[in-house]
Amino acid sequence: MDASECRYCQDTVDWAEKVADLSASTLYLTKDQSNKGRCILAVKGHHGEPFQLPDQEWAAFSADLRRAAKALNSAFKPDKINYGAYGDTYPHFHFHIVPKYRGGKSWGGPFDMNLAPQRTVPDAEFESIIAEIKKYL
Ligand SMILES: [Zn+2]
Repeated sequence: MDASECRYCQDTVDWAEKVADLSASTLYLTKDQSNKGRCILAVKGHHGEPFQLPDQEWAAFSADLRRAAKALNSAFKPDKINYGAYGDTYPHFHFHIVPKYRGGKSWGGPFDMNLAPQRTVPDAEFESIIAEIKKYL
């Protein structure tokens, strides 16, 4: 897959909606909100592996990751945040940032991929989650 076929590069992601452009990445809220506040942070530019980024971009991406996770922590007070980077079938480097809640969805184990094509919460709730994240970014 090259950039012309990549939904992150073509801005046609349909499993998540943009929250904000950060310095070296774009933050999305996944349409599946079975873990409230679940996001994807995708690097700007079509890079499959972290080592393909220039050092300064990797440093900026790392700072964006911390910034996004801190915002989720402030907004939703999860018991833990999980991070996942896979990309076997989607080689545009991104982290899944998944707030976990004690006793909630997939607590104590790996999170489900669950990339739903539709919002799993009402529109007003989805919009309020985005607003809460933006408040702390
Ligand atoms: Zn891409």
